[in-house]
Amino acid sequence: MGRSVVVHRLNRRWAQVNVPGCGWVRFRLSAKGKGARLPEAKTFRVTFRNGQWHIAFAVIPEPAPAPGTDEVIGIDRGVTITAALSDGRKLNCPQLTVKERAQVRKHERRAARAGKDNPQKAAEYAKAARLKAREANRRKDWCEKTSTMLARSYGLVRFEKLNIQNMTRSAKGTVQQPGTNVAQKSGLNRSILAQGWGLLRRRTEHKAPGRAEDVPAPYTSLRCSACGWIEKRSLKSQADFECVSCGFTCNADKNAATNVTAGQGGIHRPRCSAGAGGATAATSRSSAREPQPNWVGIPLF
Ligand SMILES: [Zn+2]
Repeated sequence: MGRSVVVHRLNRRWAQVNVPGCGWVRFRLSAKGKGARLPEAKTFRVTFRNGQWHIAFAVIPEPAPAPGTDEVIGIDRGVTITAALSDGRKLNCPQLTVKERAQVRKHERRAARAGKDNPQKAAEYAKAARLKAREANRRKDWCEKTSTMLARSYGLVRFEKLNIQNMTRSAKGTVQQPGTNVAQKSGLNRSILAQGWGLLRRRTEHKAPGRAEDVPAPYTSLRCSACGWIEKRSLKSQADFECVSCGFTCNADKNAATNVTAGQGGIHRPRCSAGAGGATAATSRSSAREPQPNWVGIPLF
């Protein structure tokens, strides 16, 4: 946005904001807004719902107090588990329940079947949209609570560095080079976006400025957190990791998160590079999480 918001507080209950192209607009402060530091808002949004106009200001949250320890936590982000922590905790972003998802499909189906001029059509789409908005609200709430917890509990929060934009890029490809598994990839895209990864990372940075880092960690799920050996046969299943080199066993998600804590990328070139050989369920998952392993230029340390 860049342009800062100009807000003047008129009295305890009223304030006014300069809306570009519209001029000064007075608004009544909600209970929450009475004590808020309005001039610090970066953006605002005006909406019309239930017959009333609302204005909402986006304020960057205050940094949370650091715990005063040097404890480092690594977070491995995944699709089946939203965030696996290196202390073994698993955090899941709430989504719609199976029942709610069925309701969304039902309303969308009814809307699709309703004729063009049928008022039912818009009503059914609105019902589906309301359910989807509920999911978005839950996700935002979860990201706020989780980022606050991370900022308060750990001295340093390390995230597995991944390029969500690349990961969610459509698999359709081009006319010359059509992509494969387009439908599967688009399903994965949806679930990645649904997890709110980007938001969690951003909010943690806001609440723990300078205490959140991105760690380049290729092959986090295939690397042994005990000895560093990378081999895809070590990932026995989606949940179990057993190092073929040293025999270390661990929960697969905890192992990956521990690698993120250590902040170590590839230390050995994997004997079986990801994507080669037979594609089992486990390996197709890991290659989906680390889609573009690029070994050229990765320092060996
Ligand atoms: Zn090992």
